[in-house]
Amino acid sequence: MGIEETFRVIEIFESLQGEGANTGMPVVFLRLAGCNLACPWCDTDQSKFEMLTANQVIEQITAFNVKAVIVTGGEPTIHTGLEEVLTRLKGRGYWLGLETNGMERPPLTWVGLFDYVAVSPKAMFSPLYDDDQMIGEADEVRIVVDGDVGEFCREIRNRIKAAYYFLSPCERGGEFNIKETIELLGQLNAGHRSGRWLLSLQTHKLAGFR
Ligand code: SF4
Repeated sequence: MGIEETFRVIEIFESLQGEGANTGMPVVFLRLAGCNLACPWCDTDQSKFEMLTANQVIEQITAFNVKAVIVTGGEPTIHTGLEEVLTRLKGRGYWLGLETNGMERPPLTWVGLFDYVAVSPKAMFSPLYDDDQMIGEADEVRIVVDGDVGEFCREIRNRIKAAYYFLSPCERGGEFNIKETIELLGQLNAGHRSGRWLLSLQTHKLAGFR
């Protein structure tokens, strides 16, 4: 018998989706450790995790009543063996969402397993986003305004096809750069009769929950 595959899990908890088009949706978050980027304002402590088997992950998720899971990180797409967990949850009727930085397309074994994909490309790593590797389609794109990201937003809008495009204020030390974000929304939406870019607030942080 081979060694059972394990996953680096930071936490599994029930909450409400705090950002993007699904804000307010009750979900269980599966937060995995490890990322292929290193954003200076990252709020995930990648060093604290436990190794869980697929059975343990599923046991913890199904202990909650909510039948929706958002897989987040860290960066989930680096956890290539996760399809077993995803397939088993899907088989039990779970809605599955993925949060990714979009630098690498999800593994082919994940195709058709996610009901919703949110991509948050990071402007400071724009040279690493390669059309041959990066995700090209998603349900929503969310870009954090961590500087002058206008050009990056215009570029990403052409490179990732999505139903929604959001700007998200950057939080540093409890402060959000909301004014800068709204001004950039104004620039990106100028000349368009409807808002092509929308605002996404990290409402979970504003409301003080996880
Ligand atoms: S991509 Fe996300 S998880 Fe990775 S370092 Fe940046 S903020 Fe953190």
